[in-house]
Amino acid sequence: MISRPSAAKDFLTVNNFLDGDLGVNRAVIDFERCKECGYCVLFCPQKTLCIGKDINQKGYYPPIAQTPEKCTACAICARVCPDAAIEVFKE
Ligand code: SF4
Ligand code: SF4
Repeated sequence: MISRPSAAKDFLTVNNFLDGDLGVNRAVIDFERCKECGYCVLFCPQKTLCIGKDINQKGYYPPIAQTPEKCTACAICARVCPDAAIEVFKE
């Protein structure tokens, strides 16, 4: 079972991470494409991602980066995403 963070403000969203930290490793999740299967959260070797608190138009809660500084840009999350909703950038 995947737990949700209790305080969203304590976590960087993937989009905020993209806006504020160009030049670092990061996984960017397409908020509206995600169907919240949780594979990216489960398979990330760094445990960088967690299910977020914001709901998309399909009624799902896309993951966010809870520890973005740990991302190694390995792209495992992108490879396991069945909806091709993740793009990974390497520093
Ligand atoms: S690129 Fe690798 S380390 Fe970064 S979030 Fe995806 S699975 Fe985790
Ligand atoms: S693997 Fe893709 S569809 Fe599944 S939760 Fe992650 S981003 Fe969403």
